Amino acid sequence: MAVQSIFVITDKADALAELCYGARKLADQVTAVVFGDRPAAEKAAACGAQTIFYGPVESCRPEDYCKAIAEEVRKVPSALVLLNNSIRCRCIAGTLGAYLNTAVMTCVNEISPEGGRIVCKRTVYGGSAVRSQVFTGAYGVVTAGNGIFGDIDTVFPAADSIAEIPGKPECAVRLVARNEKKGGGANLAAAKRIVDVGRGLAAQEDLDMCRQLASLLGAELGCSRPVAENNKWMPIANYIGLTGVTVKPDLLFSMGVSGQVQHIAGINKSKVIVAVNKDKSAPIFKNADFGLVGDIYKVIPELIKKLS
Ligand SMILES: Cc1cc2nc3c(=O)[nH]c(=O)nc-3n(C[C@H](O)[C@H](O)[C@H](O)COP(=O)(O)OP(=O)(O)OC[C@H]3O[C@@H](n4cnc5c(N)ncnc54)[C@H](O)[C@@H]3O)c2cc1C
Repeated sequence: MAVQSIFVITDKADALAELCYGARKLADQVTAVVFGDRPAAEKAAACGAQTIFYGPVESCRPEDYCKAIAEEVRKVPSALVLLNNSIRCRCIAGTLGAYLNTAVMTCVNEISPEGGRIVCKRTVYGGSAVRSQVFTGAYGVVTAGNGIFGDIDTVFPAADSIAEIPGKPECAVRLVARNEKKGGGANLAAAKRIVDVGRGLAAQEDLDMCRQLASLLGAELGCSRPVAENNKWMPIANYIGLTGVTVKPDLLFSMGVSGQVQHIAGINKSKVIVAVNKDKSAPIFKNADFGLVGDIYKVIPELIKKLS
C-alpha cells in the first residue's frame, strides 16, 4: 500500500506534532483530527497537517466521531490512519478499522516507505523478534508509540484549513460526568531525567527515598511493570517498557530493575543509563552506560546526601 494521504488522530496534544511530522515523511497530504473546540485546533495549527478537523467533546466522546471520520477518509482513494498508542486511540483504531473494512496494526514501533509500500514493524514474542507488515487494501489503520519518528527538525506553516469534523458524532454511550484525575501527571515521554524503579524496592513506603532522589535530580519517577501492575505502588501510566511508556531522557537512573527485554524496549532510547543492581549478572548492565553493583538501599541515601 502506497498512500497519498494520512489522517493523524490523537487524544494527546503532545503526540500530534510528532505524528504529523512522521506522516509528512510518508505522504504529501496530511489531515489531523483534534478532539476539542476550535481554539484547541487553532493551537495545533502548525502541527504539520495541511487540514485540521476538530470535534468538540463537551457532550460526547472522541470515539463517537469514528463514523464521521471514516466518511472523510473514504473521500480519498487511499489513506493510512495513524493514531497514538493510548487505550482510547486503540479503541478508535478498532472502530475505524470496522468502518473502513480494513485491518488495524497496533503498537507499531517503525513505519517506513519501502519499495513504494508503507511497511509497519512491531516487536513480537515479548521483544525477541520483529514483524514487518503491509496493508494490502486501499486503507489501513495503525497505532504507534511515541518517539518513533525522531526529533522534529522542521517548522511547518499553519494549516490551510481548520474546520469542524463534517458529520455528527454518534453517541452510543451518554457522557454523564468528567472528574479530574488526582495525582500522577508525570510526563515520562517528555522527561529529560528519569529515576526508574524496579522490584529491587522492598516496600511501597521506600518510594519516598526514590521520590526524594528524583526531586533532587529534577527527574520524573517511572517504574517497571510489576511495580505498577502487580504491586500497584505507582500509577499504570508510570510504567516503562514494551507495553508501557517509551522514554528518551538524557539521563535515566535504573534502580533495582533487572533489565528484561520488555523493559529495555522502553528505555533503550535514553542517552545515558546508569544502573544500580545488587546482582552483577543482571541483564540491565548490558544496556547501561554506567553500572554499579550495589544495594539501592545504600546507594540512593548516599546519592541523596551528596545532592542535598
Ligand atoms: C508480554 C509482556 C510484556 C511486558 N511488558 C513489560 C513492560 O512494558 N515493562 C516492564 O517493566 N515489564 C514488562 N514485562 C515484564 C518483564 O518481563 C519483567 O518481568 C519486568 O520488567 C521485571 O521487572 P523488575 O526488573 O522490576 O523486577 P525483577 O525482574 O524481579 O528484578 C528486580 C531486580 O532488582 C534487583 N534487586 C533486588 N533487591 C535489590 C537491592 N536492594 N538493590 C539493588 N538491586 C536489587 C534484583 O537483583 C533484580 O535484578 C512484560 C512481560 C511480558 C510477558
